[in-house]
Amino acid sequence: MRFKTLKQLQRRKPYEVRLCNLPEVVTIDSYAKEKAYRINELVYEVHGEIVEWYGFTLATKSEPRIITDIGLPRNEENLQQHTSIAPEMIARYQETLPGHLVINGWIHSHGDLEFRRFSETDNENNITVLEFAYTSIKKQIAKKEVKIKQWSFLVENEYSDEDFRSGNACLITDVPITSARLFETVYGGFCFCLVIGNDGWHEQQIYYKKRGILTGESFVDKKEAELKIVDSGRKLSNAEISALEKKVRENIHPVTAPPPERLERM
Ligand SMILES: [Zn+2]
Repeated sequence: MRFKTLKQLQRRKPYEVRLCNLPEVVTIDSYAKEKAYRINELVYEVHGEIVEWYGFTLATKSEPRIITDIGLPRNEENLQQHTSIAPEMIARYQETLPGHLVINGWIHSHGDLEFRRFSETDNENNITVLEFAYTSIKKQIAKKEVKIKQWSFLVENEYSDEDFRSGNACLITDVPITSARLFETVYGGFCFCLVIGNDGWHEQQIYYKKRGILTGESFVDKKEAELKIVDSGRKLSNAEISALEKKVRENIHPVTAPPPERLERM
């Protein structure tokens, strides 16, 4: 027997209909960007040393693709080179937010470190935030065909036990049918990950999660992304800066001599 070409042997990819796209860029209101760098300055002004801190990027439920604000939760301890996030910490912070806001990512600072990209520890945090953000901002992004190798088409009240056992999937209908295609809804969500530093540098990644509702097939992906700045006209007021200073005093807790195993793995 002659083999078919490799192309012929490949199984046809399941048919997929795209319903909407996930974001390709990290969009931030200039108000939120200014606030992030202001927190960075305040950490040094208030605590007299440069430590990593983290915050959550916030968006409205109706437009989760735009970062409109930065939330500064209580950082359990701030080391010079390390920050770690647990799901409970995110959930606790989400509970303090007004109902119209969602967490769509996180931001942290590398202070004056020369390390101007995401570390291994950061990647673990990115996944933790993704899992959380996914549940609150996921939406239908596609209908994807679920290939059934062997259907068993049955008519209600007209099949035997043996009929029911046959095939890989049974479809019981009110009238006889001979063919069917099954499509599952694929949900998609994302989280924005930003790392910033003292002289104004920033790097961004977007983490994506997709999950098929029937098969439970789930995919996680990430990409480096541009920062797109939009201007809602909102400006950081003096009163807000004073409130932010208070938050930095209360929520940031520098730990001066971290044990070596706690340093950010780079
Ligand atoms: Zn980091």
